[in-house]
Order: sequence, then structure tokens, then C-alpha cells
Amino acid sequence: MHRLRQDRGRGPGCRAGRRGVRGTRAAARTEVFSPHSLEAAVQLLAEVKEPVRILAGGTDLMVEVETGRSELPGLVLDISRIRDLRFVDEGDEGAIHIGPLVTFADVRRSALLREKAPALWQAAGLVGGEQIRNAATLGGNIMNASPAADGIPPLLAAETHVVLTSSEGSRRIPLFSFFKGYRTTVAKPEELLTEIVLQPLAEGAHAYFRKVAPRRAQAISKVVFAGRIHVARDGAAAVLKTARLGIGAVAPHALRLFETERLLGAQVLTPRLIEDAVRTLRSEIAPIDDVRSTADYRRAVAGNMLRAFLMAGLTRSESGKAGF
Ligand SMILES: Cc1cc2nc3c(=O)[nH]c(=O)nc-3n(C[C@H](O)[C@H](O)[C@H](O)COP(=O)(O)OP(=O)(O)OC[C@H]3O[C@@H](n4cnc5c(N)ncnc54)[C@H](O)[C@@H]3O)c2cc1C
Repeated sequence: MHRLRQDRGRGPGCRAGRRGVRGTRAAARTEVFSPHSLEAAVQLLAEVKEPVRILAGGTDLMVEVETGRSELPGLVLDISRIRDLRFVDEGDEGAIHIGPLVTFADVRRSALLREKAPALWQAAGLVGGEQIRNAATLGGNIMNASPAADGIPPLLAAETHVVLTSSEGSRRIPLFSFFKGYRTTVAKPEELLTEIVLQPLAEGAHAYFRKVAPRRAQAISKVVFAGRIHVARDGAAAVLKTARLGIGAVAPHALRLFETERLLGAQVLTPRLIEDAVRTLRSEIAPIDDVRSTADYRRAVAGNMLRAFLMAGLTRSESGKAGF
């Protein structure tokens, strides 16, 4: 990444510097544009005829380049200086709006996210180590579209929409339909991710996040699961009003578990229903054997996570406690 930081003067079309990079895995000469405004960034994406890569924190992109999985093209658009893309706000409508340049360290510092998006807040604390959390952005986590990205399942459970912006305008897409396949999304090359909009945890709801990985830190997830449930008492019965579930590392891309949610919706939460839900989840996912784990292990662990979450919800509803 340090090679991208050499200043080589200024270029046209941007207020910021234009820098050249020479390196074995970069194009013969890579120009880096670092605009300070979203307008300049989308204008560049609209005007350039050659391939361009977007750089935010660089913690995925530069690993890709250094390990030879991809080459830097002749142009890199470094968006890290666009201050307007780094914010966490509560909208008038109650939704939470997050800029794509918000880092995982920013997420951890946000009292709003800790209270209203506790699964995302917890996930952020388990991403990489401190240096990675200081650089890695939530937008980069989404756009990299890794099936094992830790930030995505909590966002799926929070009914997140993403906003993509080009020089033509913006469009808003539910996160569950954003991923097309392994590391692919519906975003067009001329679009930037400019906003992440999620629903706050409802009053009285429970949230859950669990990552299973070989180590506690600096580890890629074998399974990563997040959920939100709202359990209401009806006399002696615990009625599951809503369930929102997201999971990663068990399919070509992170998934919202719609079938399992449907089975659980508006039902009395009993140990038997929980076992039915565990079976449904295990048939809804499509894990594979790879260097990190086996499909059987992932299927077993994913079901166990759901069971633990629902059992905790049942117990908490009996004790009258809400929250995380
Ligand atoms: C040592 C190490 C440990 C890690 N640990 C974890 C972990 O525990 N959990 C985890 O989930 N990830 C982990 N990662 C992966 C990585 O840190 C995250 O995925 C991070 O969130 C990526 O964000 P970034 O800003 O660095 O993205 P970048 O590397 O800058 O970009 C990633 C991709 O997204 C595109 N992009 C970025 N921002 C935008 C935007 N606004 N609009 C359009 N395209 C965009 C880029 O072009 C690129 O293709 C780790 C990485 C390292 C090196």
C-alpha cells in the first residue's frame, strides 16, 4: 500500500493529487486520483474509458494485488479523502445512515451503533486486529463481496439497503439482492457505494452475532451468523413476532435466511419449533469443503448458532430482558 502514497504531481479532473505507481503487479504506470468530493469521483468514473479500481482502506485490494490475485489497472480512484462519505447518522425516519468510509474502528466508537445495531458493533470488534480496524471500511467489506465478510450478516439482519451513486444519480438496493454470486455484485463499474441504510434494533428485540474462526483475532470466519428476533409474551407463551437472520461463509455469498425466517414468523417459540428452524437453516445453506473447514462442520455449526440464539431469546423473554 505504501507504494500508492508516492506523490508525483497533480492531474486533471481532480482537486487532489495524481500519483504514479511503479511495481511488479501494477500496470507499467498506475495513476492514482484522490478527489476530495463525491462529484469529482463519479465524474471520473463516468469519463474514463480505461479500467479503474476504487481504493478505500486498501486492506482487501492491496492484499489481492500483493498476492497476485489481481493487477492494479492503469488508474486507481482513491476515495479515502472524501470526507462526506464518512458519517454515522440517525435519520428523521429512524433509520441509521452510515457512510461507506466508516471504518470498523469508527463503528466501535459509535454509541448509536452500539445501542441500535449491536450485532454490527460486536462484529466490528472481531474484524482483523487494531491496525486493520483503523483502515478497513464497512463499504469495502460490502463491495469486496467475500462470502465470509464479517460486516455483512449483521447488516442483512438489520434489513439494510445500500445506495449506489454514479454521475447519472443514485439507486437504492436491498442488501439481500445486492450479491449475485461469489465476489460479484449488481454494482456497475461506474457506480460508487455511497450510503448504507439500516433499521435500528426495535424496542424489546434481541440481537445476536457469532463468528467461528480458527483464532479469536486476525482470522477468516468459517461461519459467521447474525440475527434479530422480537419475542413477545402472550400469557405463558413466548410468541416470536419477527426474525431476521443473516449468515456468511456457507454459500457463494452472504445470505439472508428467508425460509428459516418464514418458518419462525408469528409462531409460539418452543424447543420443537427451534429444532425445525435448525433443520430448515441447514437445508437453506450451501456450504463447501475448503482449506478452512468442511461443509458438514459448517452446516452443523450454523444450526448450533441459530439454536443458541433462539434458546437465549426464549430464556430472555421469560426473564423479561431485552437488548443484546
Ligand atoms: C490482516 C487482515 C485481516 C482481516 N480480517 C478480516 C476479518 O476479520 N473480517 C472481515 O470481514 N474482513 C477482514 N479482512 C478483510 C478487509 O479488511 C475487509 O473486508 C475491509 O472491510 C475492506 O475494506 P477496505 O476499505 O480496506 O476495502 P478496499 O481494500 O479499499 O476495497 C475492497 C473492494 O471494495 C471496492 N470498494 C471499496 N469501497 C468502495 C466504494 N465505496 N464503492 C465501490 N467500491 C468500493 C474496492 O474497489 C475493492 O474491490 C482482513 C484483511 C486483512 C489484510
